[in-house]
Amino acid sequence: MTTLVMKFGGTSVGNAERIREVARIVQSRHEAKRVVVVSAMSGVTNSLFEMAEAARGHNPDKVVQLLSKIEQAHLAACRSLEIATPEIVGKIKEMIENLQRRAHGIDLLGELSPRTMDEIASAGERLSSILVAGFLGCPLLDARKVIRTDSHFGGAHPALSTIKKFVGLYVTPLLESYDVIVTQGYIGSDDANDTTTLGRGGSDYSAGLLGAAVQADEIEIWTDVEGILTADPRIVPGAHTVEILSYDEAAELASYGAKVLHPATVRPALDAGVPVTIRSTFKPNGMFSTISPGESSGRPCVAIAMRRNVVILSVTQESMTDQSGFLARLFDVFGRRGISVDLVSTSEVCVSVSLDRSAPLNALTQDLEKLGRVSVVQGRAVIAVVGDLLRKTPEVLRTTFMAIDGITVDLISMGANAINLSLIVQEQDAERVMRNLHTAFFEGGAR
Ligand code: ASP
Ligand code: MG
Repeated sequence: MTTLVMKFGGTSVGNAERIREVARIVQSRHEAKRVVVVSAMSGVTNSLFEMAEAARGHNPDKVVQLLSKIEQAHLAACRSLEIATPEIVGKIKEMIENLQRRAHGIDLLGELSPRTMDEIASAGERLSSILVAGFLGCPLLDARKVIRTDSHFGGAHPALSTIKKFVGLYVTPLLESYDVIVTQGYIGSDDANDTTTLGRGGSDYSAGLLGAAVQADEIEIWTDVEGILTADPRIVPGAHTVEILSYDEAAELASYGAKVLHPATVRPALDAGVPVTIRSTFKPNGMFSTISPGESSGRPCVAIAMRRNVVILSVTQESMTDQSGFLARLFDVFGRRGISVDLVSTSEVCVSVSLDRSAPLNALTQDLEKLGRVSVVQGRAVIAVVGDLLRKTPEVLRTTFMAIDGITVDLISMGANAINLSLIVQEQDAERVMRNLHTAFFEGGAR
């Protein structure tokens, strides 16, 4: 029998209607054993952080107001899902009272430790999972029993081998008796059995860890978009879902701000050979992306990404040619200021690097003037063509250059092992370049 890990994010469990949809999706996978991982209802984790801060700031009215908002949201969903039994309502009320007591403690001490914060933050997932398990009528597993971590509160590191052991103890037997179990994302516990969290947005990480530990056939990440797209659809109307991509490609796209999923969170699953799909709860039968555990997508171009607010900083030094250690001195300047350089291009007498606009340009210029003449060009955007087989496919260059014909390009970079070809252009040309490249690669051009 197949085993699926199905993770639903905050908007997917945001109200009773959404939870009904979650249940429909879970039930549609009746041929599989399913581990359902849920986030907190959207906004609840933020409210819990706000509540804890209000307690520390000695603002009990705000605490009460935030807690009652959280309580009402869950009770309303409960009633509308027709699961407002004394048991479920009792559990919700008890958790809210518990939070109230903790807030009182923080107020008295005027102190909020990361450990206490994690305990409070974990309530979001513990509450939403009561609703989802209640509505599905299936067992609820406390994730803290299996997601074992170190004690780095607020961003704990999971211990995969221990997790595997506890999954064997608690999850595997439960899946023998039940087809569906529900558990929480984001939360875990340390050796002292104190509650920890995996960091904001950590539910995907939980799904990845559980998928690896149960050796799932697939991890389904259910969110509010149809997977990863070939380009930002607000810029490129013809953008469509990338059907299959590799870990490296997904990581590269995430670095350009594709917010759908941080691929590092599913690394343990991919390493264990488990594919990860990204699907939309709003279009359950729509398109979806698969991040394949295989090495490569086998594609020269899977998507085109863009980042704005780029500046280019160039250092010119005529006598650089014969100097050794020039680049070392140059990069030392960036290193000491803790600035990560994006693209680099060098010629005989000039080195150019691209940086985010937020870098301390004046200070950098001052430091770099000791090495040569410095110039700064602002208002640029970097566009990246991303694909595993990009370098092995000569047509990629031809297609790219044809698509940017007539456009001034400031900098181009394609590394020896790189899976991206990056271009820096003026910000005002960037959207046109995106559309041209998209047309060339996906709407009739080379593939
Ligand atoms: N509820 C947590 C957060 O908002 C974890 C998650 O949603 O993934 O950060
Ligand atoms: Mg999320």
